[in-house]
Amino acid sequence: MSTSSPTAQGKNFSLIEDKKKIFIECRDLIKIYADEKNRVRVPALRGLEMQITQGEISLVVGPSGSGKSTLLNILAGNLLPSAGLVRVGDTDIAKFSRSKMVDYRKRRVGVVWQLPQMNLIWELSASQNIQVPMRILGMPREERMARTRELLEEVELLDRAHHKPTQLSGGEIQRISLAVALANRPELVVLDEPTGELDSQTSGKIIDFLEKVNRDLGITMILATHDRRLMARGYRTMLLVDGRITSVRRGFVNPEKIPVFVDAFGALQIPLNLRERFQSREDIILSRESEEVYKIFVPEDEEH
Ligand code: ADP
Repeated sequence: MSTSSPTAQGKNFSLIEDKKKIFIECRDLIKIYADEKNRVRVPALRGLEMQITQGEISLVVGPSGSGKSTLLNILAGNLLPSAGLVRVGDTDIAKFSRSKMVDYRKRRVGVVWQLPQMNLIWELSASQNIQVPMRILGMPREERMARTRELLEEVELLDRAHHKPTQLSGGEIQRISLAVALANRPELVVLDEPTGELDSQTSGKIIDFLEKVNRDLGITMILATHDRRLMARGYRTMLLVDGRITSVRRGFVNPEKIPVFVDAFGALQIPLNLRERFQSREDIILSRESEEVYKIFVPEDEEH
């Protein structure tokens, strides 16, 4: 398989320079959640295509329910897709057995979730938390201690080594969470809304830390976020709408300007969060403002 083959959304990936190595590739990725009796089926990813360059920080943005967490959980090795390819490095993790998936989680990926309780064990100190992934790998004590020190230095919290999470600030907790995610020397770090719970000043500092770690260690990072400060940093930003990546660009993506699809029958497909408002109407007008800009005009509903 070629590592830089164009995808169905090829023109969206013009930002990838050919000479850089594509490290993650999703092709026609589908995830359908089903209940136990397979009666309720919820499509979360609908043929998602994505490429990520090695060592890059990439953002996934999109409205709530668009599939960000599902995508991140698949990349984190917590969830198997229903169909499609998910290549990380030279392996298709979508084909993994349960034991291979456990091994992938232990050795190859690190995660930072939005909620601190999901990243850290509350009864353990910062240093003990950082050691958990290394203990799981059976790393000898001396090596573990040296690596823990190295990681505490990387996130500049050596002086907080023996503090428990309740004795740390929100920003410090996320920095320790990042150190935990890096403990197994992962190839990829997946971060779900890492600044979601933080005030703007702390959030800015965390972003600086992510950049520093990315620079120092060259680790590929993929972040789901609503944080405009993150979007403003000029990372490669993928807009996810209804389970598909609809555009890729660098820098700020205005969530108000959400792309829509026109299907093979000429029907306009709009994002789920707007669907309620527009559903079953036949009086919507598309007005042409210019060659590139069309506005969707929705007449006031007299009954409401
Ligand atoms: P986001 O992170 O962008 O908010 P999610 O990946 O959480 O989106 O959800 C995508 C869609 O999948 C939503 O319609 C959501 O309700 C649905 N969904 C997510 N997790 C489950 C689940 N465990 N069971 C059923 N449906 C789910």
